[in-house]
Amino acid sequence: MKNLWRAEEASNYSGDLELRVFSSNLLGRSDELVLHGGGNTSVKSMLDGEEILYVKGSGWDLVSIKAEGFSPVKMSTLLEMAELEELSDSDMVSGQKKAMIDATAPNPSVEAILHALIPFKVVDHTHADAVVTISNSVNGEEHIAKLFPNFLIIPYIMPGFILAHEIYKMTRNFDWDACEGIILHNHGIFTFDDDAKNSYDKMIEAVSKAEDFLSENADLTFDKIEPTVFDIEKLKELIEKEKGCEIALKVNQTPLALHYASQDHLYMKATRGVLTPEHIIRTKRIPLIVNENLEEAVSNYVADYKAYFEKFARDEIMLNPAPNYAVVKNFGVVLFGKTEKESNVLNDVIEHTMMAVLRADKLGGYESISLKDSFEMEYWELEQVKLKK
Ligand SMILES: [Zn+2]
Repeated sequence: MKNLWRAEEASNYSGDLELRVFSSNLLGRSDELVLHGGGNTSVKSMLDGEEILYVKGSGWDLVSIKAEGFSPVKMSTLLEMAELEELSDSDMVSGQKKAMIDATAPNPSVEAILHALIPFKVVDHTHADAVVTISNSVNGEEHIAKLFPNFLIIPYIMPGFILAHEIYKMTRNFDWDACEGIILHNHGIFTFDDDAKNSYDKMIEAVSKAEDFLSENADLTFDKIEPTVFDIEKLKELIEKEKGCEIALKVNQTPLALHYASQDHLYMKATRGVLTPEHIIRTKRIPLIVNENLEEAVSNYVADYKAYFEKFARDEIMLNPAPNYAVVKNFGVVLFGKTEKESNVLNDVIEHTMMAVLRADKLGGYESISLKDSFEMEYWELEQVKLKK
């Protein structure tokens, strides 16, 4: 992939935070690294004798983040929190907020403690397509270990405090200088350095390695496919009824979408879960698959969703059980955002997911996180709080 760092452009920025903004924007410009709010970055800096972690605030996109999008949090508090045996994610969030030196700054990323634990000035974290594609394949662990021998490789753990604490435990007596980065299986990648450019370069280099591996082992070509006729108005009507609101439906019939929707065993192929855990908040775990009977497909989806919820729920509030997108056999992909913008965001996420699934299949089969892990993410207490408000 392309390294977008230009010395001339970089020379317009000086100081830790300004350079942090610049290289975060650079990462954000490559949609094969992060999409819509995905990924996070940080820089450690001294302020009045105290070490501060400036970490991406929630609600900001890397591509457009500005200095005020970074939350300044006391490093000492974050490192103390990492040591706690137990901490709920809600308590972690409020603890992080209390440690902010500017109360008007946005909430720090839920990965702030993890950033604090990495003893380098600049930390970059992305959900790079190529890395998660390989990770989400049947022999992913083997491939990743071979491709990244000098990385710390972590099996899937839900983002938030548990992940941060696990990394704290794993790195107590750790030779960080020999470590080139971190791979979180089924989630993403971290690179770090004391220099912003070096950390960015390491990200591009690592992801390029994964991309080269995919070009060699999982190249894709799409035949030209003519979509069949499908009653899209009927689909819209059924989904709006289930959701109880109007939707800004979007149809995707790109060669990729048509290829994806024309696969044999479509249901099995297109319902194997998300590419990176946070996508589940937008897309749900699986799409509606329409093969023959549309009405039956919708009512089965809703019934299956309720069964999935009941299987794992403790005291959570169920989300609306209607699908957020559909794969319609030989027709394409249909997105069900509430607004045009939301449908476009969904479409971007699904385009990247479809590529990843097809490529992982070339590596032997796509495999995402378990049903239970999916539920934990979809019904994360931090998401539930928003609903309960
Ligand atoms: Zn992440």
